[in-house]
Amino acid sequence: MSINEIKENLKNLKTIEDVFLYINSKEKDWITDICDNFSDDYPHLTMNWNFLVKKINLEPQKIILVNKFDTDTKILFSDLLFTSGFILKSNEDYSKCPTCNKVIPKLNIYNMIQEKKESENLNVSIPDEWKATCSRC
Ligand SMILES: [Zn+2]
Repeated sequence: MSINEIKENLKNLKTIEDVFLYINSKEKDWITDICDNFSDDYPHLTMNWNFLVKKINLEPQKIILVNKFDTDTKILFSDLLFTSGFILKSNEDYSKCPTCNKVIPKLNIYNMIQEKKESENLNVSIPDEWKATCSRC
């Protein structure tokens, strides 16, 4: 099926549930988790997301963790979801807290934020040490 055919099919879907069913049928196992929030330990992630979404006059929906963005179809789906208020994150970079299901950056991303924080004097609050759960979970 060509990208244009998929675009046409997507236009006919009425609800976001239909869109998710369609995505799962085309890119099986691509979406690994659907979460409501980022961990409270990383408030800037929520702020950035809200900022982006408000810029396109939408309400924040959910955070979707996915495998690689390695096909045109996945990129098309990503654009569609993004322009509906969702945010997509690679599951190589983010995972969910096993206790509360909120999204936490993995160690590689934590280190990147930490580095930026130091080199660019970035004013963001992150935990002093990385953990796979929230600090309060
Ligand atoms: Zn948690």
